[in-house]
Amino acid sequence: MIPYGRQSISQDDLDAVIEVLQSDFLTQGPMVPRFEAALAEACGAGFAVASNSATSSLHLACLALDLGPGDRLWTSAVSFVASANCGRYCGADVDFVDINPLTGNLCLEALAQKLKTASQSGTLPKVLVVVHLAGQSLDMAAVVALTKPYGIKLVEDASHAIGAWDGSHKVGSCAHSNICVFSFHPVKPITSGEGGAALTNDPTLAERMALLRSHGITRDPMEMPAPPDGDWYYAMLELGFNYRMTDLHAALGLSQLKKLPDLMARRQRLAAQYDKALPAPWRPLRIARPEHCAYHLYVAQLPGISLGDKAALFHSLREKGIGVNLHYIPIPNQPYYQALGQRPGDYPGAQQYYRESLTLPLFADMTDEQLKAVLEALR
Ligand SMILES: *Cc1c(COP(=O)(O)O)cnc(C)c1O
Repeated sequence: MIPYGRQSISQDDLDAVIEVLQSDFLTQGPMVPRFEAALAEACGAGFAVASNSATSSLHLACLALDLGPGDRLWTSAVSFVASANCGRYCGADVDFVDINPLTGNLCLEALAQKLKTASQSGTLPKVLVVVHLAGQSLDMAAVVALTKPYGIKLVEDASHAIGAWDGSHKVGSCAHSNICVFSFHPVKPITSGEGGAALTNDPTLAERMALLRSHGITRDPMEMPAPPDGDWYYAMLELGFNYRMTDLHAALGLSQLKKLPDLMARRQRLAAQYDKALPAPWRPLRIARPEHCAYHLYVAQLPGISLGDKAALFHSLREKGIGVNLHYIPIPNQPYYQALGQRPGDYPGAQQYYRESLTLPLFADMTDEQLKAVLEALR
């Protein structure tokens, strides 16, 4: 089976991990801060807080932004469920914004409309989580123009988009958001095994996320309400979690980060080949600036196909050894969110995208022969 995505691991990655295994620290050693500094530097952000997954980082981001019961979080109707679940972890209500079915990204007109309605009914969100689907950044300046008048805080779920640009800024620079989250799961653009990070330019948010990542515990006397009892002392200031990244994972992440430009160029080259060679009536996802897209996924669409016909096609492609996939089932379609009152029909753009889209194999080490095999199977 040609997978839809997979990691690219080379000897320098192996060496980096082995070096940590032979060192004094497997976790909470020097590698996590080094990885964090390199991430912040690569993206042009002030701070990076690494964790054991993007799901954890999204949770930390929402906590740091004081999202809680009685608050609302909005996110894109098409994403991985983690983009929404972070709101539920905080006890907030979650609602969705429809997408543009041609790009898979949040639809700015739908957002503008929903904001207007919500401001009239007093149901505005505290936090909006935007998603850069497939590695294409949303127009963040346009999002800010819509949300700023209402004081809505912005989190970018950039799990697909490390290395991408929004036109003028790097994704992760947080030029237009409070916090930007990356995932380092093996299928994502670069991997640490499992892992995530939250980037921000706000030192208070960074400190709060770092505190909550490790049980809400500090060893810094300056942060304690009273002088420490002795040198052994630590103070738990808030109810936190164990969301720490290990040094093993950070070493792999750091090694991979160095190769990001090369890995991304290889995915962009393959995506351009798909774009040129997709047989009719397939069409690629609409990517405004391919040179700015991280191409975590290659999504192709069949205009007008029914969900039933797509299921049959999906099955036959898998039988031919083509590891197609689907990113994503609209989150409001999930039984959990329907039980909370969501109605899939309220998101026609998401439903069209769901019917028409398929993820084709794309990963840095994909060969031209593999790409040809996928195109042949599509024909
Ligand atoms: C993969 C992914 C996540 C979750 O990432 P983990 O690191 O596996 O927790 C969240 N959001 C999106 C959009 C993703 O693709």
